Amino acid sequence: MSGDLTDPLGLAQDLIRCRSVTPTDAGAQAVLAGALERLGFAVHRLRFGDVDNLFARLGSGGPHLCFAGHTDVVPEGKAEWRADPFGAELRDGLLYGRGACDMKGAIAAFVAGVAGHLASGAPRGSISLLITGDEEGPAVDGTVRVLEWMAANGHIPDVCLVGEPTCSARLGDTIKIGRRGSMNAVITVHGTQGHAAYPQRADNPVHRLTRVLAALIAAPLDAGSEWFEPSSLQLTSVDVGNPAVNVIPAAARAALNIRFNDRHSGESLTAWLRATVAQHAERFDLDVAISGESFLTPSGPLVNTLRGAITRTAGVEPRLDTGGGTSDARFIARWCPVAEFGLVGATMHQADERVPVAELRQLASIYRAVLDDIAAGQAA
Ligand SMILES: [Zn+2]
Repeated sequence: MSGDLTDPLGLAQDLIRCRSVTPTDAGAQAVLAGALERLGFAVHRLRFGDVDNLFARLGSGGPHLCFAGHTDVVPEGKAEWRADPFGAELRDGLLYGRGACDMKGAIAAFVAGVAGHLASGAPRGSISLLITGDEEGPAVDGTVRVLEWMAANGHIPDVCLVGEPTCSARLGDTIKIGRRGSMNAVITVHGTQGHAAYPQRADNPVHRLTRVLAALIAAPLDAGSEWFEPSSLQLTSVDVGNPAVNVIPAAARAALNIRFNDRHSGESLTAWLRATVAQHAERFDLDVAISGESFLTPSGPLVNTLRGAITRTAGVEPRLDTGGGTSDARFIARWCPVAEFGLVGATMHQADERVPVAELRQLASIYRAVLDDIAAGQAA
């Protein structure tokens, strides 16, 4: 792209025009790399498996702030769009397109914020971008692998700011300082198949599973914690698949999802599940997949700097929040303090995803203010 990099609009449009539905890159990261190279970044294109990733760094000293995000987008979906999902059309001050708010707009704002910061003088410390093409997918060959590469090459930052859309009603209203963990489990209870008229010769796994499930949802997991809402267990499926009316089946299965706060871990919940199932079933299988542990970045230099930059630039006092689903911040939290701040997420993953151009520019100003404050030695 050409033009003034301190304005995020042009880059946001160039990125939206790349049809980068996970895990396809469609040239999006080359567009970004070109802009970063113009600003003097050393750009590393990192392909793991089928996934294109990018790490770019400007400077080599500390403090080192890393902006993190993703260039992939979810498909445009079946719903009718008023605008071309990959056209980056402007209408009435709104930029339309898949990824406008989740999160090509924020990536353009990273670059514009850096460009504005650099225009005011030499940077102090270093600035980097960690960009994956696999956030909306399995997230196996994305941020996790890039972080391992960063660790091996001396690039782990002091703090990291993820640009996911965090705001609910107006830009600046919400910073995410943590996320709940998420896990899925499938419980299979085995019994003994038999004739429904002769239950004494059978062992009904449906009865056992019913008792297991009743025990699992009998009481809340907790009442919440200082920064988190209460954990939640939701049964998502109960399956027997028995077409016969006179047969006690051999097995019964149920699936569940748990969103958990910092009072639990995937391991502690797995142990609790196993113990609860064992009270009601002698023979069972428990398959657990932990999508992410919960994490929390409590108050500190990163959150304070971000808060100050938002209040000064947008005139809003942000709320610190830990709600919503998981994000790649769960992987980054293993390495350094991480917070998330981005656009208003009202239309993310929807038809007619869009962002006001003024909001995009204001986000760039906030990111720039964060960099200015760090350079001025007020944080990190
Ligand atoms: Zn996203």
